Amino acid sequence: MNKRDKKTKQKEAHKKSMDLAAPEDPAQAPLRKAYEQVIFRDWCKACGICSAFCPKKVIGRDEAGAPVIERPEECIACRFCEIHCPDFAITIRERSESPKEEEDL
Ligand code: SF4
Ligand code: SF4
Repeated sequence: MNKRDKKTKQKEAHKKSMDLAAPEDPAQAPLRKAYEQVIFRDWCKACGICSAFCPKKVIGRDEAGAPVIERPEECIACRFCEIHCPDFAITIRERSESPKEEEDL
């Protein structure tokens, strides 16, 4: 086997190992859970605590200080916002759960 053949064989072996390490079919991969942040506007006093405690910067604030859900897909469901809200005005739930009727409370 000459040098060129050896190199080609090495390249093929490397490619094969890379193929084995390739990610699975995305359709087969487990889905990342998605969460919904539900704000009960009538109870919210726009204190900003939920925004301040959110480690993923999911919750921003508008010019009046009221919470605005800016990056819902980043939510990790740590529930810091829910736990620290003094008025029980925010809750977190998995996206597949029942529709968000509470927002109209
Ligand atoms: S912590 Fe509660 S009351 Fe304060 S801004 Fe957030 S949702 Fe509103
Ligand atoms: S559950 Fe955690 S990550 Fe999600 S919005 Fe509340 S504080 Fe942010």
